[in-house]
Amino acid sequence: MQKNIQLRVKPEEAANASILISILAKAIGQEQVAIHGYQILKQSIDARSRQQVWINLTVLAFINESPSGRFEEEIAFPTLPNNAKEVLIIGAGPAGLFAALECIQLGIRPIVLERGKDVRSRRRDLAKLNKEGIVNPESNYCFGEGGAGTYSDGKLYTRSNKRGSIDKILRLFYQFGADERILYEAHPHIGTNKLPHIITAMREQIELSGGKVLFEKKLVDLVIEHGVIKETITADGDRFLTNALILATGHSARDIFVLLKEKGILIEAKPFALGVRVEHPQSIIDSIQYHCALRGPNLPPASYSLVEQVSDRGVFSFCMCPGGIIAPAATAPGEIVVNGWSPSKRDNAFANSGMVVQIDLATAAEFLEKNQRNNPLINKSINLSDSLLLLDFQQYIENKTFESGGGGQVAPATRLVDFCTNKTSSNLPAASYLPGLQSANLEEVLPGFVHHTLQAGFKAFGKKMKGYYTNDAIVVGTESRTSSPVRIPRDAESYQHPQIKNLYPCGEGAGYAGGIVSAAMDGQKLANVIALQLG
Ligand SMILES: Cc1cc2nc3c(=O)[nH]c(=O)nc-3n(C[C@H](O)[C@H](O)[C@H](O)COP(=O)(O)OP(=O)(O)OC[C@H]3O[C@@H](n4cnc5c(N)ncnc54)[C@H](O)[C@@H]3O)c2cc1C
Repeated sequence: MQKNIQLRVKPEEAANASILISILAKAIGQEQVAIHGYQILKQSIDARSRQQVWINLTVLAFINESPSGRFEEEIAFPTLPNNAKEVLIIGAGPAGLFAALECIQLGIRPIVLERGKDVRSRRRDLAKLNKEGIVNPESNYCFGEGGAGTYSDGKLYTRSNKRGSIDKILRLFYQFGADERILYEAHPHIGTNKLPHIITAMREQIELSGGKVLFEKKLVDLVIEHGVIKETITADGDRFLTNALILATGHSARDIFVLLKEKGILIEAKPFALGVRVEHPQSIIDSIQYHCALRGPNLPPASYSLVEQVSDRGVFSFCMCPGGIIAPAATAPGEIVVNGWSPSKRDNAFANSGMVVQIDLATAAEFLEKNQRNNPLINKSINLSDSLLLLDFQQYIENKTFESGGGGQVAPATRLVDFCTNKTSSNLPAASYLPGLQSANLEEVLPGFVHHTLQAGFKAFGKKMKGYYTNDAIVVGTESRTSSPVRIPRDAESYQHPQIKNLYPCGEGAGYAGGIVSAAMDGQKLANVIALQLG
């Protein structure tokens, strides 16, 4: 017999299988020996009580029967026949890879073109970026096999549960090597050390089934005839014919947005958020969230999620990485962009998070106009109807951040209270950011409205989380790649671009996703739509 049971247990009880079995037996009213095993179906942490942190569990108990596996069988990937129809996918991020895997399940051969390198070779470029501050514009934290998702935190939660099957995405990550915990934890995450193996396993499956994943194949041009893409041309001069083209190049492929604009293909400016990364010692966040002096071994490093309205602007935490590292996420020399990742154990001593402010078109235009006179970077007239206006704004801030840094990828930073009181810190605390930090006045880097909103936001967060507002925390510039500053429109039903019938904009870069899971779901969705259209 199997029984579903809800339990509320202490962290040390949840971590010990024999204690958990005895609790289960009691809850079910059975002898302990009758419980032959159990499966956790859901797990979340409840830290609202100041006296005790609880673990809420939904458990499937196997009573007097052997425990069965989670799934009867794996999701199957057939070998494609020689005459399978082909789809060209540009970009091997979560959107492109999950589109490719879905295509195979639907009997279509995916040909994936990726500008960057495979995960192993990419790792060497990341080492250079972290140690020497050298940015390879084709191989970095955003570009290469697995896209921006590979060397990320691998947080797999999303609010976009109406966009597709989150369960299928999680199940595929599990099937390709992720820990079982991602299937039941309320806030699943994989970790940077584990993601590369999983991404490699996905690519091997695509190839085994008869699909292709080609590296260092950067899309640079499109041959368009009568509203249809006939050929795509890569930087090395190769040409690829296509029935359907899924464009899943991510939010950092600025050259793709420029190419589309040059080709007269409709794109639109899209509001995004910009700010800083803030980093605290993890022990501070743990003690605030768990109301304790020391977290202990049975609780994960604590996280937080903060949001505040300051006048008419929202300020909110973004991509919080407990036990994490601040990463240099620039994609070109001469710019500094920060983001965050964490290893699977989240055992680093710091907790970092993006803290960002929503940017709208009119304010960005006003800011660029004001700064135009003193800056050669903005060498064109500012026009609200310019689809690349927010991209220019983003680029401008990233270049300014670089100028305020210490050379290479040494980023400008200040202590948190100093940031809020307009001081340049006389020294900086230890931090996780590997290329190094330089004390700087971030008021000179950030637009005034972003700076003021962040200041008010941090003060408000300090009231919500006592201990958060401290000079032991550091603020690092600049978190600017939160989502795409451009949208590539598509029809709501056919998912085709309104002008180019065989162009399917996909994932975060096109403006239809905001994270690994939502990008993966978007890829799957497009594969299904294209399968129907190709018959
Ligand atoms: C450091 C970091 C940490 C992150 N942490 C998380 C997290 O914990 N959880 C989460 O949900 N999200 C996280 N994100 C965001 C997440 O990675 C992205 O939302 C997601 O990867 C978007 O998927 P995508 O496939 O749409 O685009 P991308 O992942 O950006 O992939 C686009 C791919 O297209 C390729 N490409 C670009 N231009 C061309 C071209 N011209 N020709 C060929 N190929 C091209 C790129 O090289 C890249 O591989 C993180 C991002 C970063 C950088």
